[in-house]
Amino acid sequence: MVTLIEGDGIGPEVIQACVLVLDKTGVPLEYERVNAGQKAIEAYGTPLPEDVLLSIKRNRVALKGPVTTPVASGFRSVNVALRQKLDLYANVRPAKSIGAPGTRYEDVDIVVIRENTEGLYSGVERMANPDRAESIRIITRSASERIARFAFDFAMRNRRKKVTSVHKANILKLTDGLFLDCSRKVASEYPDLEYEERIVDNMAMQLVVKPNLYDVLLTTNLFGDILSDLCAGLVGGLGLAASANMGEDLAVFEPVHGSAPKYAGKNRVNPAATILSGAMMLDYMGYTEEAGRVRQAVEEVVRAGKTVTYDLGGSSSTLEMARAIADRL
Ligand code: NAD
Repeated sequence: MVTLIEGDGIGPEVIQACVLVLDKTGVPLEYERVNAGQKAIEAYGTPLPEDVLLSIKRNRVALKGPVTTPVASGFRSVNVALRQKLDLYANVRPAKSIGAPGTRYEDVDIVVIRENTEGLYSGVERMANPDRAESIRIITRSASERIARFAFDFAMRNRRKKVTSVHKANILKLTDGLFLDCSRKVASEYPDLEYEERIVDNMAMQLVVKPNLYDVLLTTNLFGDILSDLCAGLVGGLGLAASANMGEDLAVFEPVHGSAPKYAGKNRVNPAATILSGAMMLDYMGYTEEAGRVRQAVEEVVRAGKTVTYDLGGSSSTLEMARAIADRL
C-alpha cells in the first residue's frame, strides 16, 4: 500500500503516467490517495492536512507529484513541511546519462545527497524592520553527521568510489565549518571510499566542465537543491530527474521538477522523472528487478527518440510517452 499524492499543476498527469507504468510491472501495488496543495486547501482549508502525514506514517512509502508554493508570500512550502515533519532527512537525486538528445556528456553518473531538514530551509525568517529581512541558516552537528553517514553508507551500498563534500566554509565559517567537520569525521570511518571537498561555486563550474570526475556529492539543503537541478541539466533536463526523500523508516518519492503551471492540463510534459522516481520506490520496496526493467524501458524510449515529449525534441504527449514505456515492459 502506497500513499499517492497527485499534487498541483502537472502533478496529476505525471502521476497518472507513472501509475500506468508501475501497473505494467506486475508488482501488486495498491494506492491510498490523499490530497496536498491546492486541492487540500479547497477541501480542508490547509495545504498539508494531518491525514496526509498519517497515511505516509502508516504506509511508510509515498509517491508524490509536485506541489505549488506561492512565491514571496502565502503558505510555506508543503514539500519542505513534509520533509521536516516526517524527518525525511536525506534527499537522494541521481543524475545519470541515458542518451537524451542534446546532452553534452555521455558518461555522467552523479548522485546528489542533500540534507533535507535544515540549513537555509529552516524557515526562520523575519523582517527586523521594514527595510531589513533576515533568514537564519541553522546547521546542527546531529543532522550533519546523519546526512554524512547516509551519503557514505549509500556510496558503500551502491559500490560507489568517492564522496565529495560541497560547502562554503571559507565564508560561512561556523555553519559550513561544522558541516565540513562532520563530513571529515564520518569520512574517516570509511577508509575504502575516497573523500574530497569542493567549495560550492567551484563545484558548479567543475560540474559543467568535467562532470565525469564526480560520483556522490554530499551537501547542505540549498546547495543540494541548486546543484541537483544543474546535474539534471547535464543529463537531459528536469523531465528526467527523479528523487527520493528518505527518513529512518519512511520514504517519499517524487520528481525533482515542480508543478510547471503553464503546462498544467495540457498532457505535454515529460512523465519520465516521475516514472524514474517510481523505479526508485520499487528498489526501496525490494522489487529491484522490476525497478531495473522500468529504468531500461525509459532509457530505450528516450534513446529511440520517437515517442518522447517536447523537452527531448519530440512531439508526443505525456500519456503517449508513458504508454511507449509501458509497452517496452
Ligand atoms: P518547475 O520545475 O515547475 O518548471 C520549470 C520549467 O521546467 C518548466 O516551465 C518546464 O519548462 C520545465 N519542466 C518542469 N518539469 C518538466 C517536465 N516534467 N517535462 C518537461 N519540462 C518540464 O519549476 P518552477 O517553475 O520554478 O516552479 C513551479 C512551482 O513548482 C512553484 O510553485 C514551486 O514552488 C513548485 N516546486 C515544487 C516542487 C516539489 O513539489 N517538490 C519542486 C520544485 C518546484
